Amino acid sequence: MDTMPESFEERLAAIKAIVADACAKAGRDPADAEIIAVTKTRGPEEVREAWEAGLRIMGENKVQEAAAKIPACVGGPEWHLIGHLQKNKVRHALSLFTTIHSVDSAELLAAIDRVADEDGHDPHVLLEVNVSGESSKFGIRPDDLPSIVETALSCRRITLEGFMTMAPFSPNPEDARPHFARLRELRDEMERRFGATFPRLSMGMSGDYAVAAEEGATWLRIGTALFGPRH
Ligand SMILES: *Cc1c(COP(=O)(O)O)cnc(C)c1O
Repeated sequence: MDTMPESFEERLAAIKAIVADACAKAGRDPADAEIIAVTKTRGPEEVREAWEAGLRIMGENKVQEAAAKIPACVGGPEWHLIGHLQKNKVRHALSLFTTIHSVDSAELLAAIDRVADEDGHDPHVLLEVNVSGESSKFGIRPDDLPSIVETALSCRRITLEGFMTMAPFSPNPEDARPHFARLRELRDEMERRFGATFPRLSMGMSGDYAVAAEEGATWLRIGTALFGPRH
């Protein structure tokens, strides 16, 4: 990566300029491409910086880490779970997060809906799709998506907001484009098939968020480009 600006504010401004540019190219309103500050491995001080710079959603990938951090954080960010969720952590996760980006099976959906009903939560959920077919990745196979969307729509407590994906690692952000475009197409297919709207597409990280914004991302999950390298 090129040299990073010294201050959080400057790094955020640079990212926002790139997102605005990407949205202009795609004819999108940049207000529809929101930055999620990925705060995994960061402490409450860094969360405070993000909050004070105006970011309102923080993303964590582990339930335990978030549980230790959230009570120490100032402001009132919305916390989103972006990492894999095990069924035995659903209750804990629902007590911390408003939105779960990484739901990848019908069993997990059912567990979330049952616990949400018991504990009085109304979770928002994205289905994680393994668009690339990489076997190392979590996520639903595109062929299995319709049946899981149907299950999600029949849940009592869950609102299905949309879909999430991770592009395979590559130093060239253009390599991610077909995967992001595919997720958008799958979303459009599911909307037509079920006569529903799924407004959220969670895609793009520090290396490829500009491409993701061009391809329709509404939530960009950005860690390193905001906070610097993880230790
Ligand atoms: C860590 C993480 C990110 C952010 O990664 P960066 O490259 O640091 O921006 C995004 N999404 C998920 C699921 C992550 O675990």
